[in-house]
Amino acid sequence: MKGPTYSTVELLARLVAFDTTSHKTNLPLVLFVEDYLAQHGIASDLVPNEDGTKASLFATIGPKKAGGIALSGHTDVVPVAGQQWDTDPFRLTRKGDRLHGRGTSDMKGYLACVLASVPQFRRRALKTPIHIVFSYDEEIGCVGVRPMIAELGRRLPRPRMVLVGEPTCMTVVDAHKGPVRWQVEVTGRAVHSSMAQLGVNAIAYAGRLIGELARIETELAAREPDNRFTPPYPTLQVTLIEGGTASNIVPVACRFGFEVRALPGLQIEAIEARLRAFADEHCLPEMHRIAPETGITIRQTNAVPPFAVDPAAEVVALALRLAGCNETHAVSYATEAGLFQDAGAPSVVCGPGDIAQAHTANEWIAASELDKCMAFMERLGEWAET
Ligand SMILES: [Zn+2]
Repeated sequence: MKGPTYSTVELLARLVAFDTTSHKTNLPLVLFVEDYLAQHGIASDLVPNEDGTKASLFATIGPKKAGGIALSGHTDVVPVAGQQWDTDPFRLTRKGDRLHGRGTSDMKGYLACVLASVPQFRRRALKTPIHIVFSYDEEIGCVGVRPMIAELGRRLPRPRMVLVGEPTCMTVVDAHKGPVRWQVEVTGRAVHSSMAQLGVNAIAYAGRLIGELARIETELAAREPDNRFTPPYPTLQVTLIEGGTASNIVPVACRFGFEVRALPGLQIEAIEARLRAFADEHCLPEMHRIAPETGITIRQTNAVPPFAVDPAAEVVALALRLAGCNETHAVSYATEAGLFQDAGAPSVVCGPGDIAQAHTANEWIAASELDKCMAFMERLGEWAET
């Protein structure tokens, strides 16, 4: 079957034109991809979200057998709201070697390269299946890929390895940090501020908890540095806070969020356990003495696992060879690689474009990056044939 052939740039223009900001539907884009693949004789498996407004796509080129290599990317992009763009962010605009548009680097440029390589993959007598794995809601905490990963080894084949095409300038990334986020809610007792001794000040207790987090942060920073990362230690910070009602009321509620950017191997549970122990020992007894209805809840809201692949893994050697590199790198931004890795599919991150352009106004990708990625895909096709 001979489906339509578009250039990589044409495909990128089509993909950028779909406004797939994470809070919107990605279905028009996914249906476009499904249709494009169908025209090349490739069936897609869609894994929808609960209300059917978004979907991941899984498709296989080549033999229907276990294993294979997955090309993984997310379809969603970050918002443009509040950013000053010189061009329409949803219309691919070329200026010299630079192709501007939301998602060009992060990461529709990669999706375009994967799709533009489909005719090349189809032409070959592949011995190793090549899977196309496109997710949604990556930008809000790698949420959308999880139901699809849950199907690997069940309804969907489990890839032997995964190439995640987040922007690395086509270098090979074999480790990254993982952001883990918590929400803490302190419930106090409201009274008139002239009778403070009868109230429980939720903001004051939140302050104590934040003080403990600052001590933990200092300890994390003093750990044995891992100089592959910048900074070379796990970071911890309070990211959001709200509380209080009025300037003459002892505050009944305070909520704050904090985040740890974990290095591979960090004991995340130990951090939460320590904060709980501090609350149990240094906050709750006093709070309950005044008002039994008071309390502190600590809830993990999102965890993207830190990622590190065994340096001896087949996927590392393969990606280095295909990319023409001889060393791997570690980065501080997170991707879906850790989730695939934890699901038993060794992964690396390697994709076109520079993370420095991701999420910015006037986001762009160099056309030369797309060319490098296309050459990578050509070599991948050759490899999958042998
Ligand atoms: Zn991304």
